[in-house]
Amino acid sequence: MVFRVGVIGTGNIGTDHANRIASQVSGADVVAVFDVATERAKEVASGVGAVAHATDGDVINDPEVDAVLIASPGELHAEQVLACIDAGKPVLCEKPLAPTTAECLKVIEAEVAAGRQLVQLGFMRRYDAAYVEVKAALDSGDIGEALMLHCLHRNPTAPDWFTSDLALTDSVVHEVDTSRWLLGDEIATVTVLAGKPSPKAGSAQDPQLVVFEMASGVLVTVESFIHAQYGYDVRCELVGSEGVASMDTPTLGAVTRRGGRTTVVPPDWRVRFGSAYQAELQAWVDSLASGEFHGASAWDGYAATAVAEAGLRARAEGARVAVELVDRPSFYAGK
Ligand code: NAP
Repeated sequence: MVFRVGVIGTGNIGTDHANRIASQVSGADVVAVFDVATERAKEVASGVGAVAHATDGDVINDPEVDAVLIASPGELHAEQVLACIDAGKPVLCEKPLAPTTAECLKVIEAEVAAGRQLVQLGFMRRYDAAYVEVKAALDSGDIGEALMLHCLHRNPTAPDWFTSDLALTDSVVHEVDTSRWLLGDEIATVTVLAGKPSPKAGSAQDPQLVVFEMASGVLVTVESFIHAQYGYDVRCELVGSEGVASMDTPTLGAVTRRGGRTTVVPPDWRVRFGSAYQAELQAWVDSLASGEFHGASAWDGYAATAVAEAGLRARAEGARVAVELVDRPSFYAGK
């Protein structure tokens, strides 16, 4: 069976996902798209052989659409995901599930009431070969018990509107999911330290050092540096009681000439995580057939937003802030 996918939001990542599903993912076609930027939507639609609809609701309720991919701005996600649940359609929603835990909980309530998993979140690092290898080293027992996780999240630069708060809620939120998934543990507290700002950072407090204490006591450090200049450099090192699992920044090849050797660092997330997006989308399409979703769930989306909210408070108050989660519904056991 070929699943017919509707895409909502055809900006940076929505266009990337739509093109990828149309040309590189087996078992799915893109049949409908919507974006308020109508010309962009039409252009993407014509590139993938889809129709451009007039509203997001038209995509969700189109009888020709089996499943929906949401890549609109984060503040719209909860309402669009709720509409998908209402229509009984599986949905892959880019992070965040919603900017507030209150909205995330509405999604959780609706999905539990629907009685089957429909929502997957776009935390694609779970499909990145290097992160998967680090997790395998821990799960196999090769490096003993996890003690500390050190994460780097460096972007070359960011626009002026990308504030220090957004660095936490939009960027570090990936490390939130990475930490919870790699360690199989919840984040108990968040601390945010802002030291000497980079002269390249404008009005942003950048870099920031974020510390998570996991419920088990494992410590996680996250360097968030959105004006690092030299490239997109995202990786981690997991320190175990009997060894260390780490990864190199994937490079784009090397040039050797008189006097030295230069390796090229990825310029952005599209290049660094291209194969992870590919694996994520293929796994999601495969899940549409099996009905078993293995990526991040709505619960993971809720937990990520809860940690981001705690991070904002930690930054504002200069304090170590506890993450408060509601009881996990039994529906999400093993999800
Ligand atoms: P973007 O380039 O701004 O794209 C968002 C698109 O949605 C824009 O074309 C925007 O139009 C459109 N839009 C606005 N209102 C809409 C509505 N009511 N319905 C449908 N579309 C609407 O942003 P992006 O970088 O692609 O990010 C989109 C989402 O993906 C964000 O939640 C972001 O956090 C996430 N993301 C995830 C990753 C990842 O690695 N997983 C990477 C990048 C982005 P206008 O421009 O006219 O407003």
